[in-house]
Amino acid sequence: MNTMSETNHFTPDDERMLLDAIDNWVEKSVRPIAKEFDHEDKYPHALVDEMKELGLFGATISPEYGGLGLPARVYAKIVTRVASVWMAPTGIFNSHLIMAAAIERAGTEAQRQKYLPRMATGELRGGLALTEPDAGTDLQAIRTVAKKDGGDYVVNGNKIWITNSLHGGAVLLLVKTDTTTEPRHKGMSMLIAEKGPGFVVSNKMKKLGYKAIDSCELAFQDYRVSADCLLGGIEGKGFQQALGGLELGRINIAARGAGIAEGATRHAVRYAQERKTFGKPICEHQAVQLMLGEMASRVEAAKLLVDSAARAYDTGQRCDMEAGMAKYFASEAGVFCSQEAMRIFGGASYSIEYDIERFYRDAMLMCIGEGTNEMQRIIIAKQLVERNKI
Ligand SMILES: Cc1cc2nc3c(=O)[nH]c(=O)nc-3n(C[C@H](O)[C@H](O)[C@H](O)COP(=O)(O)OP(=O)(O)OC[C@H]3O[C@@H](n4cnc5c(N)ncnc54)[C@H](O)[C@@H]3O)c2cc1C
Repeated sequence: MNTMSETNHFTPDDERMLLDAIDNWVEKSVRPIAKEFDHEDKYPHALVDEMKELGLFGATISPEYGGLGLPARVYAKIVTRVASVWMAPTGIFNSHLIMAAAIERAGTEAQRQKYLPRMATGELRGGLALTEPDAGTDLQAIRTVAKKDGGDYVVNGNKIWITNSLHGGAVLLLVKTDTTTEPRHKGMSMLIAEKGPGFVVSNKMKKLGYKAIDSCELAFQDYRVSADCLLGGIEGKGFQQALGGLELGRINIAARGAGIAEGATRHAVRYAQERKTFGKPICEHQAVQLMLGEMASRVEAAKLLVDSAARAYDTGQRCDMEAGMAKYFASEAGVFCSQEAMRIFGGASYSIEYDIERFYRDAMLMCIGEGTNEMQRIIIAKQLVERNKI
């Protein structure tokens, strides 16, 4: 298998080589198993081993900590390519890389040295544990509490929907270290939480789509973690650290949305040439042409917005508006194109023999995860006014 590990300079040739390696891997290893593993909701362990070999768990981690140091714009293209065939595996390395990016950006040097090399190889795989049963969009309402006890924090509380929490070894855990401070976010902190006594994976959730990947409920029951694991070493910064991590997360979700849109459109273009009605392929009926024309245009627009947001991220500037636009538009493109593809497939769309029903089931999650699309439009509008003050 081609590995990406020696490639740290990104000339157009290097980029092409990387993306070719991904395309080959997707065709050889991802496409053949997608249907079975999705329908049986089976975790793709062998695929994870291959992702390690490819270097995907270190994709955006800096080379000094053992990663590939890919710019977000290259990383986003990888995600789109994988998601255009099967979206779910991208979740295995995305949540992990958001955790790594937060440690690299906000962690102490000792934390970077301790965690990033293990994360880059995939030996330690992680995720982000923010959401609780009563707090998703309103993260400041979380109830998980970490109390200082000597050199440790003792954590109690519950999280829900946490990706990679069954098969991974750690999460970046959003907690309240002070439940009385106003504004509420000043009492929030992040802990690097490796599995241990009191870190309980209480339920693997059954889902509409995004199957094969573990999304679990977690219970923290007097879970002890060393105070050295407080991200950045200072209490009260957790909310900003969580929001900072979401910019990369949103670009990733946008890239997944673009991939779903592209994959669904690809299936539809093929089927529309194979299926005949009234003596001709359905792609020659104008009603189907109108759908395909709209779908293909949205795919290209989604990919361009993802690229533009990723390039803004790579400059290091604040890019919540760009990431929000890309996430909003591309995830809606994924929903639109998968629905239109369902129409083009007609009755066949309902058969689990075809892949299109999986795109349809997977697409909607992109409108919800990493901040709902309602919130994205609110963020875009706020930034728009902020950047255009009269
Ligand atoms: C498969 C899956 C995987 C996930 N993985 C993770 C993970 O790894 N880690 C993690 O921490 N979380 C994860 N999540 C949780 C996800 O991030 C939340 O579901 C999402 O943030 C929305 O929160 P909520 O479900 O509580 O919805 P709510 O916050 O209850 O929102 C419900 C509705 O109200 C709207 N709404 C809420 N507040 C406002 C407002 N102020 N203005 C306008 N509209 C508003 C929302 O847009 C939405 O339409 C995952 C979720 C799923 C389904």
